[in-house]
Amino acid sequence: MLTPMKILVVEDDPSISGPLRDGLVREGFEVQVAGTGAAALAAPPVDLVLLDLGLPDLEGRVVCQELRARGPVPIIVVSARGDEIDRVVLLELGADDYVVKPFGFRELVARIRAVARRTSTPDRREPEAEVSAGPLKVDRRTRSVALDGDEVSLTPKEFDLLVFLAVDAGAVRSRDEIIREVWDEHWWGSTKTLDVHVASLRRKLRPDIIETVRSVGYRLVVLDTDPR
Ligand code: CA
Repeated sequence: MLTPMKILVVEDDPSISGPLRDGLVREGFEVQVAGTGAAALAAPPVDLVLLDLGLPDLEGRVVCQELRARGPVPIIVVSARGDEIDRVVLLELGADDYVVKPFGFRELVARIRAVARRTSTPDRREPEAEVSAGPLKVDRRTRSVALDGDEVSLTPKEFDLLVFLAVDAGAVRSRDEIIREVWDEHWWGSTKTLDVHVASLRRKLRPDIIETVRSVGYRLVVLDTDPR
């Protein structure tokens, strides 16, 4: 028996969180509801967070950032139609996906499963758990990354992107291919998303670790080991 996936629903409106909780429980998830940002931050660890941005006490984006700072839990942000949301900022805050109210329940469940699939720890017997390219070491089993022996903290999406590029280091991967493999058909598909993630990987690792191949895509550069 698989352990049910635990989802934290952060939503202040009980007329939304109630039916949502019941529906998700019917889908086999274990669900906790937090009606405020403070309650969300006080909740025990879960496998995925569904985060409404319009909360009575704290800014949803602050809650998102705080949850992200604590660890790699996948976060799907929910926002009301017409909210002024800077999607790029949301991604920088560490959200993994985004839905706009009113959303269909089926669509939401598909998104949850897609995010869970993309961010799940692979099978422990996976022979290629460790990927390395020069001074870069990626462990898919523990989802950890080190450059020149120094651990680097990445968001789940940054990690997935890095793994995708690192398994075939040096090879050029097209933008379409990256979007399709690292995000998926449910993603709202702004190609800016990809550039934002590449920029943040360069910032967190090294500026020259990902090379832009003009009008095609990106490739991971096998760096020389830092001589320091
Ligand atoms: Ca709300």
